[in-house]
Amino acid sequence: VNGVVFDAVNAALADLCREFRELNTGHLATYIPPLARADPSDFGIALTSADGHRYRAGEANKPFTIQSVSKPFVLALALSELGAAEVFRRVGAEPSGEPFNAISLDPETGRPANPMINAGAIATTALVPAATSELRFSRILETLGRFAGRSLDVDEEVYRAEAATGDRNIALAHLMRAAGSLTGAPSAALDVYFRQCAILVDATDLAVMAATLANEGVNPVTGARVVPAPVTVQVLAVMATCGMYDGSGDWLLRVGLPAKSGVSGGLVAISPGRSGAGCYSPLLDAAGNPVRAVAALAELSRELGLHMMHTS
Ligand code: GLN
Repeated sequence: VNGVVFDAVNAALADLCREFRELNTGHLATYIPPLARADPSDFGIALTSADGHRYRAGEANKPFTIQSVSKPFVLALALSELGAAEVFRRVGAEPSGEPFNAISLDPETGRPANPMINAGAIATTALVPAATSELRFSRILETLGRFAGRSLDVDEEVYRAEAATGDRNIALAHLMRAAGSLTGAPSAALDVYFRQCAILVDATDLAVMAATLANEGVNPVTGARVVPAPVTVQVLAVMATCGMYDGSGDWLLRVGLPAKSGVSGGLVAISPGRSGAGCYSPLLDAAGNPVRAVAALAELSRELGLHMMHTS
């Protein structure tokens, strides 16, 4: 019986891949050369159930840099270490209604709007306790690897390009430092943030990472606890309102799942208690969300009745 179910899910993903690969709208990120070189026709989709079964279709094993999809997982690490009161004293939990790289700081406190936009993510990264920025990055890389169930590496070319062109992020970090909302030196926080954005994953990794959030913080493939269960509730709540930038409201209406997108075309979506999805499609819409992934997950959510406002 199980074999039949596995085949049916793989066939459904393959259908979605075929159907939405045709969708050729959107644009590649071009702010650094390695992202501009992405193949615009790529589309991979993977699903991991909360009991650890794995499904995939299309370019689900093509490596790309995680970029902003790192943000919820680093937030999970900061929450595990410091607790919600301390983290949300430093970073807000309100959607900004502005693009990912906006100067979204509270005029009085300098506190960034939320941990899913760049300002809030840089501040969150800086909160991860460690004696040096090298150790801070090691902890982040190791934690993301525990979410993925394998050890992950950094794309050094992307890291260097992020650091060389990151003027807006550099400006954000200095503004937060001036306002007292960033702990430590801006250059140290930025170096860790740029490395974190350059961690290499594929859609299959993202599905396991998402499934770990869906499974109350236990990686369903390795069986290892990565973060405490209450942390996943906090992270999923922030993802639901802020994960898709200023497309978050429309996404919640259409798809109804906590999610996070990134500028290289990665996306995670979580159906709590059921499954995690990971996608790769480098063409982005005006809000910066991957076009094919959004369309395919809207369809999948409809087909499987995954919208979180459903009562059954
Ligand atoms: N590295 C990118 C940046 O900081 C990540 C942003 C994103 O994925 N939206 O600009």
